[in-house]
Amino acid sequence: SRQWSLVARPQGEPADGDARLEEVDVPDPGPGEVRVRNTWLSVDPYMRGRMNDARSYVPPFALGEPMTGGAVGVVEVVGDGVEHLSEGDVVLHDRGWRERAVLPADAARVVDADLAPAQAYLGVLGTTGLTAYAGLLDVAQMQEGDVVLVSGAAGAVGSIAGQVARLKGAGAVVGTAGGEDKVRWLLDDAGFTDAADYRGADPGDLLRRLVPDGADVYFDNVGGPTLEAAIPRMRDHGRIALCGAISGYNAESPPPGPRTLGLAIGKRLRLQGFIVTDHLARMREFVPEMAGWVRDGDVVYRETVTEGVESTYDAFRGVLTGANTGKMLVRIDPD
Ligand code: NDP
Repeated sequence: SRQWSLVARPQGEPADGDARLEEVDVPDPGPGEVRVRNTWLSVDPYMRGRMNDARSYVPPFALGEPMTGGAVGVVEVVGDGVEHLSEGDVVLHDRGWRERAVLPADAARVVDADLAPAQAYLGVLGTTGLTAYAGLLDVAQMQEGDVVLVSGAAGAVGSIAGQVARLKGAGAVVGTAGGEDKVRWLLDDAGFTDAADYRGADPGDLLRRLVPDGADVYFDNVGGPTLEAAIPRMRDHGRIALCGAISGYNAESPPPGPRTLGLAIGKRLRLQGFIVTDHLARMREFVPEMAGWVRDGDVVYRETVTEGVESTYDAFRGVLTGANTGKMLVRIDPD
């Protein structure tokens, strides 16, 4: 069975040699454990932070150790004393970046594969979707009629945030994304009011065009120049949910903060960072509501899929450079 280990801490962009695919023997599960054959792996921007040796809200990956991350798989072998899981169950867990995992049965959660395809629990119905939902409704406290601006809008979180805003009665939902194809998808399929390609554009000009009368909510996935340009576009008492700052994740030293921040005072803005794991109590309402929207076609979601465990590192690097529309996933076919 194969798994990825981090062998060197990337300087800037993750390089070919910073991670290694290795062959290992996977033991039988001990008492209280199960062995899972992974079928879907999640690759996410926050994993870039875990490659650095820095304290954060999630501990760094250890050098020479297999990396972890969201995964869905099928229970293959059940250890002694495990009552609530059986062979063939489809489970969600955090031992991604590998083909097979042995883990405590308590750390695997059975997913309802009748409600949605199993990999949806790594995206629209999982913490990705919850990030959009809680960030918009609880953190930014979006109200009916608000003009909502979303950056990283064609990504996994951003595309859901924009659609939830529409369904909750936003006055307009506008997005920025990298490339004309992504912009077309936002306009034609995801129901955004307007969207534009930020690449090569002056961020100030771009946002003046997208939100000429200002925005009440900015759902920020990217930080950097887009955040700097968004602050002057905010209406008084606007709310900015600081979800991510991917434009700086590969920077070797922290990029300078927004020079426009002083405007937040006169505009009485609220800028609030958040981490989805503080909002897990929302899952109970979120999953049925989102599953209903998906079933009725009110929320559409995209997946960009690479094949085989060997593609995981490149898939991850692709997320950092915009190779994905919607959720980036790795599919592993049964051998
Ligand atoms: P995405 O699916 O949005 O993938 C990342 C996207 O970021 C890429 O597709 C790319 O799209 C965009 N991007 C890359 N570089 C830049 C850049 N320099 N400037 C602007 N955009 C860039 O990933 P997720 O939906 O999983 O995550 C989106 C954001 O949300 C990330 O910042 C992530 O860290 C954050 N996040 C935060 C959570 C929390 O709890 N706070 C939980 C989950 C995610 P493009 O083509 O548009 O450039």
